[in-house]
Amino acid sequence: MPKLEVKNLAAFYGRAQALRNVSLTVDGTEIVALLGANGAGKTTTLRVISGLLRPSRGDVFLDGERISGRPPEYIVSLGVAHVPEGRRLFPGLTVRENLYLGATIRKLKRSQLASEVERVLAMFPVLEQHLDRPAWALSGGQQQMVAVARGLMSNPKVLLLDEPSLGLAPIIVKQLFRTIAEIGRQGTAILLVEQNAPMAFSVSRRAYVMETGAITIHDTVDRLRQNQRVQNAYLGLG
Ligand code: ATP
Repeated sequence: MPKLEVKNLAAFYGRAQALRNVSLTVDGTEIVALLGANGAGKTTTLRVISGLLRPSRGDVFLDGERISGRPPEYIVSLGVAHVPEGRRLFPGLTVRENLYLGATIRKLKRSQLASEVERVLAMFPVLEQHLDRPAWALSGGQQQMVAVARGLMSNPKVLLLDEPSLGLAPIIVKQLFRTIAEIGRQGTAILLVEQNAPMAFSVSRRAYVMETGAITIHDTVDRLRQNQRVQNAYLGLG
């Protein structure tokens, strides 16, 4: 059974249809990439999975349990963490406070919170020295690390990452993706929305391509690298 299963989703913003038909799966130990042009519906797919938007049709299952239609807090508590595009940190709160907010749902004691921060910082040691600084004072790359670390504070089984590379210098993106790969190796399933297909491919086993609200291509990364359409549209090899 897949860890996460998305079946035949359709979704609207008012009368505008953003998703027409989206189905995908993520196994428990997999990083799966979701590619597509601006406006294809990648962000909307993540919003439906995490319960921020109700689908008009279709279902989402986590470990076989239907989660679509349930409130976002419940979905987080079951083990789905969403790291949104643009990071959405609380800029005036410290890094530590931002991290604590990622664990709100777990109702931990103060001492447990502190040890969870330690656990998560093992992935992002550079943040240790910034814990008591306000989030706005960090670089873009560090802020993205805080956003991912905050997601990990809920101890997720599935991590939804929306465009983690956005606006970051190539060398920072490389470091960040090394960490994303490590999070995957340690047993968290990841659904990775990315415009940067070469980086996404470097950490993913399989990938889906979306066009205008539907999945149009889906295969292993090894095979997609050889796919002419994917090469032209996403790998800049056309
Ligand atoms: P991007 O990389 O630009 O975020 P995306 O693939 O994630 O693109 P979505 O953000 O999911 O695409 O958008 C899918 C469609 O829904 C687009 O046509 C977009 O204009 C529309 N849309 C997104 N958010 C809203 C909203 N809040 N209200 C109305 N339409 C929206």
